[in-house]
Amino acid sequence: MSIIKQNRRGSIIVISGPSGSGKGTIINEILKKNKNCWLSVSTTSRPIRENDIPGVTYNFVTKEEFEKKIQDGYFLEYNNYVGNYYGTPKEFIFSKIQQGIDVILEIEINGAQNIKKLIPEAIFIFIMPPSIEELQQRLRNRGTDSEEKILERFKVAYQEINEVTKYNYVVVNDKLEEAVEKVHSILLAEKCRVDRIEEVFLNNKEETIHEKLVDNKQFDNSK
Ligand code: ADP
Ligand code: 5GP
Repeated sequence: MSIIKQNRRGSIIVISGPSGSGKGTIINEILKKNKNCWLSVSTTSRPIRENDIPGVTYNFVTKEEFEKKIQDGYFLEYNNYVGNYYGTPKEFIFSKIQQGIDVILEIEINGAQNIKKLIPEAIFIFIMPPSIEELQQRLRNRGTDSEEKILERFKVAYQEINEVTKYNYVVVNDKLEEAVEKVHSILLAEKCRVDRIEEVFLNNKEETIHEKLVDNKQFDNSK
């Protein structure tokens, strides 16, 4: 029998970072590596991009449908980002963590702050681009946004980078494999936190053995 009993609940992992920093790419790798992770599918009113899969990358709704959902209390958090709504549906999140599954929320900084108020024990990871030049390059290479939207996202990136100190961890996404390894290690380390210990099983006999060892009564070191 194990000496300690640890809390097996899943964690909520909030991942933010400027658009183009590589959040989606890193999360895809984490989901392949860690079968015990689940990515929450957000709802958005932004237009569908070529590489989007409705119901997989996002649930796409109109602005009016989104506002109706806000009124219905459908979201754990939501925010407006460069002119479009984005929100995290409440459903599934708490049942997943009860089942011991880690839930990843890929959300922008204001949404992350709202989650921090609601769930302070969540883990907050910020994905940082290696440089501003590289960020701009990646946004352009991705080819999913108009030049106007790229500049808008780029402007927001400066504000976002200034908020990094509100996170628990920062991972610079220079070499992809290294960044993935770091995020994976953070998730593993979080499972070892002492505040996950619920019970310690040391019976009287074991405590006595321990005392004897400490007092050096059991063994004679001079031999
Ligand atoms: P985000 O989800 O943060 O907006 P993406 O994951 O879509 O960012 O990544 C933006 C672009 O940068 C994509 O074209 C992706 O393939 C590329 N990319 C991601 N990580 C790296 C990396 N470490 N090195 C080079 N290119 C990367
Ligand atoms: P994109 O349009 O590039 O898919 O996402 C734009 C921004 O919205 C990203 O920073 C992404 O993390 C954020 N985002 C995605 N889903 C949500 C959500 O449910 N809530 C909030 N607050 N932000 C989100």
